[in-house]
Amino acid sequence: MDLKGRRYLVVGAGFFGAVIAERIAADRGERVLLIDRRSHIGGNSFSADDPQTGIECHVYGSHIFHTGDAAVWNYVRRFSTFNSYRHRVLAAYRGAVYQMPINLATINRFYGKNLTPAGAMAFIRDEIAKEGISTPANLEEKAVSLIGRPLYEAFIRGYTVKQWGVDPVLLPESIIDRLPVRYTYKSDYFNDPWQGIPLGGYHRLFHKLLDHANIEVSLNTDYFAIRDRIPAGCTVIFTGPIDRFFDYRFGRLGWRNLRFEKEICDVGDFQGTSVMNYVESTAPFTRIHEFRHYHEERNYPKDATVIYREYSVAGETDDDPAYPVNTARDRELFVRYAVEAKKYPHVIFGGRLGSYQYLDMDKTIAAALSTYAERIRRGGERS
Ligand code: FAD
Ligand code: UDP
Repeated sequence: MDLKGRRYLVVGAGFFGAVIAERIAADRGERVLLIDRRSHIGGNSFSADDPQTGIECHVYGSHIFHTGDAAVWNYVRRFSTFNSYRHRVLAAYRGAVYQMPINLATINRFYGKNLTPAGAMAFIRDEIAKEGISTPANLEEKAVSLIGRPLYEAFIRGYTVKQWGVDPVLLPESIIDRLPVRYTYKSDYFNDPWQGIPLGGYHRLFHKLLDHANIEVSLNTDYFAIRDRIPAGCTVIFTGPIDRFFDYRFGRLGWRNLRFEKEICDVGDFQGTSVMNYVESTAPFTRIHEFRHYHEERNYPKDATVIYREYSVAGETDDDPAYPVNTARDRELFVRYAVEAKKYPHVIFGGRLGSYQYLDMDKTIAAALSTYAERIRRGGERS
């Protein structure tokens, strides 16, 4: 791989890096080198067909595209059409199955009642009042102030401790903002108007995104193995973990990683849905993904299905971290890295790992498009 004369180097072929590379190539008309230390493009959104069954699996866990941003929706559909999948999640608790996020069906089943929307609202308001929390300061207080203690203990506490590895009182309340509470029977996981899975799969979407004569992709290539050879004057777009970039000089940020256990089952349908959460602390995994349910339009085998059990584990940035933990200590540390980053005007940090933010795919694409427009399009990346 020749680095001489390079003007643009993008580190990481997830959505942030791939979109920036596509824009530099197609909009600015310049050559760009995109590297990833993994053996494939797509970052955490990558999917691959299981060789035995042909079922497309989301290798790093279920990825559902959902957005309310028209610009992002129009942009991404240039590279793939989407099917009409809408995400619904179920939660297994004490041998019964409940709807998640918590809605009227969840509340009525959990309490053995048959409340109307107004009745459930009044009932939960009384549960919340028992706790007396006026200004929630962390995830636990926020959740309890939304749904009361019993629902929190059943559906949130155990799952959250497994997922994040810390007591929910140490986590930011923003994590739980992702999970709505509904006093209707609506069971959609997301409220966004546009949702779906790429018809040809995420891997084909990424191939199309990067299919441009100005883009050169180099896989199995670690930035830290080549950084000494990057020519002066080259703009680097770095989407790996920001603390790793600075060799952890202020300490390590908190990250969570995932581990998946794959199983091919000889039944046509294992659980009847794409994602089943296991909310009790006694189950060692957080959820089971069954990928066939993402593509009802495909003719998948009727006698086999692929499931992944998901385990959450402590993260090391030397691996590929999945989630920023974002405790108060992490946020302070991140500010120090962000200040340090300003001293490197030739490096643009972005994406989930580079900006230490819990970004969905649509928000990642939106951030990449605006970073490109503000810092690269007019050649003003040094300003
Ligand atoms: P990534 O996709 O993580 O890509 C970063 C890339 O940088 C990686 O490929 C990595 O190998 C590479 N890299 C890192 N360091 C180096 C280095 N030193 N040298 C070379 N390459 C390097 N979003 C949704 O919208 N819907 C969902 O349903 C959804 N589900 C999710 C489920 C899980 C389990 C997870 C973890 C995330 C989910 N997301 C979902 C979020 C989605 O994965 C992110 O929005 C998206 O991956 C962010 O893209 P990115 O480019 O910032 O980072
Ligand atoms: N959560 C929970 N129980 C559930 C689902 C989610 O407690 O059954 C909490 C948990 O803290 C999780 C957060 O809500 O981290 C956000 O959930 P989401 O499904 O958005 O997480 P992701 O899919 O990004 O892992």
